[in-house]
Amino acid sequence: MSREVKTKGFRVSPGAKVRLDDVDPADTSQFDGSKSDGLEGVRALIKRLDPLQELLYAEHKHSVLVVLQAMDTGGKDGTIRRVFEGVNPQGVKVTRFGVPTPEESGHDFLWRVHSHAPEKGEMAIFNRSHYESVLVERVHGLVPKEVWRPRYGEINDFERELTEEGTTIVKFYLHISKKEQVKRLQDRLDDPTKHWKFSMFDVRERKFWDQYMKAYEDALERTSTPWAPWYVVPSNHPWFRDLVISTILVKMLEDLKMHYPKLDKAKMDLGQ
Ligand code: AMP
Ligand code: MG
Repeated sequence: MSREVKTKGFRVSPGAKVRLDDVDPADTSQFDGSKSDGLEGVRALIKRLDPLQELLYAEHKHSVLVVLQAMDTGGKDGTIRRVFEGVNPQGVKVTRFGVPTPEESGHDFLWRVHSHAPEKGEMAIFNRSHYESVLVERVHGLVPKEVWRPRYGEINDFERELTEEGTTIVKFYLHISKKEQVKRLQDRLDDPTKHWKFSMFDVRERKFWDQYMKAYEDALERTSTPWAPWYVVPSNHPWFRDLVISTILVKMLEDLKMHYPKLDKAKMDLGQ
């Protein structure tokens, strides 16, 4: 039996219409195996991620940016914990983007993001990102339409600039159902070790679910580009989500065709 998950269908083609209602968040049909096969697959993939990340660092030619977006409880933290658990922490930089500070709000929306873009040899993970500026800011009218509307183009230009300088970008929208969200919120209430994660703010945000879906659809449609593609990952089942994401990351790193730098023997003199 093939242990490969087919990921192509999750990629948003540039310019394609996105209807999130048509994507089943509980779908696992692109994997021909059980949950335990899937978990085994994830374990195997994350073992391959570590040497690839070391090669990325050693070669010092490329960098990688992984953008994670999701509704509250969507699994961004879980994905980071699981998929990157085997990778040398020195090579990976995680940045969370919360409510902008007064200083950040005083600048253009990309200002706080740019300095967290990865250096050569580095992998950067964005837990939320510049996309919040066309999601929460749009849904809550924190800025008027004349301000958020041009941001899609500005995001595309920014991401293109990063890729032209050697960054490979991949963006994941972790798609959960509204029902799954309430289950996860309930879990946080029921489990004392998860109380810290519970926020009444998330409960209030739930009321804006449909507006968020619309904002996500527009963002996915307008900013899935050949240089920075979006994937809509069915994420009700965390094992499936991790399988899809680790498969895409391993393939993406392998496609960089990286090599360890060669030693210039002519310049070597150990002084013995
Ligand atoms: P968490 O991911 O649970 O740490 O929450 C971070 C919060 O920051 C979320 O409620 C986001 O909606 C919010 N946030 C992130 N970026 C922005 C932004 N640009 N404007 C307003 N709120 C934001
Ligand atoms: Mg939260």
